[in-house]
Amino acid sequence: MKAHDGMYIDGAWRPAAGRDTIAVVNPADEQVIAEVPAGGAEDIDAAVRAARAALPAWAATAPAERAARIAALRDVLVARKDEIAETVTAELGAPLPFSQAVHAGVPILVAGSYAGLAASYAFEEKVGNSTVYAEPVGVVGAITPWNYPLHQIVAKVAPALAAGCTIVLKPAEDTPLTAQLFAEAVHEAGVPAGVFNLVTGLGPVAGQALAEHEGVDLVSFTGSTAVGRKIGATAGAAVKRVALELGGKSANVILPSADLAKAVGVGVANVMGNSGQTCSAWTRMLVHTSQYDEAVALAAEAAAKYGDRIGPLVNAKQHARVRGYIEKGVAEGARLVAGGPEAPREQGYFVSPTVFADVTPEMTVAQEEIFGPVVSLIRYEDGDDALRIANGTVYGLAGAVWAGDEAEAVAFARRMDTGQVDINGGRFNPLAPFGGYKQSGVGRELGSHGLAEYLQTKSLQF
Ligand code: NAD
Repeated sequence: MKAHDGMYIDGAWRPAAGRDTIAVVNPADEQVIAEVPAGGAEDIDAAVRAARAALPAWAATAPAERAARIAALRDVLVARKDEIAETVTAELGAPLPFSQAVHAGVPILVAGSYAGLAASYAFEEKVGNSTVYAEPVGVVGAITPWNYPLHQIVAKVAPALAAGCTIVLKPAEDTPLTAQLFAEAVHEAGVPAGVFNLVTGLGPVAGQALAEHEGVDLVSFTGSTAVGRKIGATAGAAVKRVALELGGKSANVILPSADLAKAVGVGVANVMGNSGQTCSAWTRMLVHTSQYDEAVALAAEAAAKYGDRIGPLVNAKQHARVRGYIEKGVAEGARLVAGGPEAPREQGYFVSPTVFADVTPEMTVAQEEIFGPVVSLIRYEDGDDALRIANGTVYGLAGAVWAGDEAEAVAFARRMDTGQVDINGGRFNPLAPFGGYKQSGVGRELGSHGLAEYLQTKSLQF
């Protein structure tokens, strides 16, 4: 795998200040495939200075020119989509068809959507005797996770560019090669030097230095709730803007009038995709007591069919963690009907698609984010009971409702404490706001709501 031994700062690949490196491991065979530099506070400082210096000119660029650069970036991603998919598969482990369709495909869609929004957004509006301007927040510190490595970068960088912000990106330790490829794409797209900068490094070192840097105006973070809480506190103390995209424990609510087989099948596939490493995955399946046994049988069958098509988890730590959660589920009395804690292969961080039945709402597997291919079937007695269970976690990122009648599903979804709900298997919409209620986060990504996160308003009175 191709790897740069430097940081992309101020429009060029520059040597890191220190000599530390991060080994990139292919989780399917546990082999080291590359080394990248592990940056520190000095590298972050150089990158933030470059971003600060580039800010006035980029902020003053006409929206149409920013739109043209983002469109060019989208075109480079299209031209290099096979390389993107291969890189994500090598460092994350996702099966190649999934990498092609989702890990390469979705960022192309999102970049395209921001090329359009940069051109059409109302950066200026009249309100009575005032003119209100939407101006860029300034320098953005973006900290991203490994589970959708390119999507999470593009979901921050594209709106930041559209808004006229400049950026320093600190990507996840496990997936730095995708981030380096993205930096090459930004360069090829003709984005001016200093507007986008990349520092690879460890979270508690480079990530923390970025979150604490006084030259950063907005910290945009996606990852665990534990780290998000820390970043929120740091930003709060500095009176700095923060956007947090955190964990989830979403409910898939199947109402009795729904097409049960479809709802269960799509629900299991939703959790198994990306090996369960999706913050918005519907990991709790809520089924009416009258249909429960049938749903359990259908879910076990769907998981078994998934079998070998599932990729590994990202690293040894996640492998141990997810298997630990499965053991805990068994210990707390949940019934395994597919999969289990045993590693299905000798090599690679694989976990079998796992289905738990007889899960009660307070069990650990029903409350905590497992981040693996594990779905828990929970029984409910009536609609109010289903709602109580659906809303009964600290999270509120996503969810699903299935019903024979769309209006019935919508009525239920409106009562859920969550940021996104798919009705009867609704399709992904790159323009719809994505983000959490409760401890799932602060702020929204994607579409015009995502763009607004990178803007601040100024009003002039006449
Ligand atoms: P993490 O929160 O530790 O890492 C996310 C990003 O934050 C990475 O770039 C990391 O380097 C950086 N980071 C870590 N510590 C930091 C610090 N002190 N200051 C600044 N930046 C820091 O997540 P993880 O360890 O990769 O995964 C652990 C768990 O988090 C997973 O099991 C899962 O439950 C959850 N997770 C959620 C999402 C999501 O999209 N919501 C994504 C990844 C992981």
